[in-house]
Amino acid sequence: MSSCSGAAGAVETGSGVASPILLAKRPRLPEWLKVSLPTSNTFAKTRNLLQDLALHTVCESAKCPNHWECWSRGTATFMIAGDRCTRACGFCAVSTAKPLALETDEPQRVAEATRRMGLKHVVITAVARDDLADGGAEHFRKTIEAVRGLNPGIVVEVLTPDFLDRDFALDMVLGATPDVFNHNLETVRRLTPSVRHRATYDRSLSVLSKAKERCGDRVYTKSGMMLGLGEREDEVVESLKDLRGARCDLLTLGQYLQPTPKHLPVVEFVKPEQFQRLGDIARDLGFVHVASGPLVRSSYHADDFSPVPPGAERPGGV
Ligand code: SF4
Repeated sequence: MSSCSGAAGAVETGSGVASPILLAKRPRLPEWLKVSLPTSNTFAKTRNLLQDLALHTVCESAKCPNHWECWSRGTATFMIAGDRCTRACGFCAVSTAKPLALETDEPQRVAEATRRMGLKHVVITAVARDDLADGGAEHFRKTIEAVRGLNPGIVVEVLTPDFLDRDFALDMVLGATPDVFNHNLETVRRLTPSVRHRATYDRSLSVLSKAKERCGDRVYTKSGMMLGLGEREDEVVESLKDLRGARCDLLTLGQYLQPTPKHLPVVEFVKPEQFQRLGDIARDLGFVHVASGPLVRSSYHADDFSPVPPGAERPGGV
């Protein structure tokens, strides 16, 4: 499992040109899920920079449908600790394989990419590294520190795996005080065993809850869910309440898209108005910031949310 929820997606452009491999035997996407190809040369600049520094992104590894848009805006979500995941979630396009050793200079390369891209808000995720005693937590810590060292004042958002709910691993990441700590619930309780069979719904809630307990207002907690996997709306609302019960501050809701025919099928294309309604419900429940829409992903326009510095008055939420 990559830690980035629902980044998986078919690529179909507004002109109707589609990837022949990815779209085999899959339903046509509704109009609201078609994406535009890049019109600026920033896309190529972003790609070249990432290649130059030999970095992985969840944008590519998870076949995110916003790949064109985000890279054309000069942003991307770094995926550290390799591109081989120890889990095999049914929704995720990141490869499952025996991981390679961690690259000790990767934190510095992420920091350098962040500097060259001029990012003011960076999102860092990782594959699940259940083969490591700390699940890759120390590598997260080093990356946060390296990014901060080279990019003073930057907002750092991490999107982490569950670290098997090991407290010492969680503390290691939180000790580096990311501004936003994101861990995705991904789906409703009933569907979790079939969507993320090595994870549990309650473990994810526990990770979020502990992050908030340990850091309070110093860190915003965030979570995301994919819709369209067969969940009912009342189940989604129940999950939103569970997340608020864990004092989760920020929320993303987006449409699940099947990355390849081997992955879980899309059960439903949720309409934009339903995303709107669920977004309104989430705001009423007290989330500080909500992004809800068909193409929303955990890191999509993450910089739309600006954390309030610790000590300053925070809007709503916790
Ligand atoms: S939404 Fe996130 S994962 Fe998708 S392309 Fe944008 S930055 Fe990358």
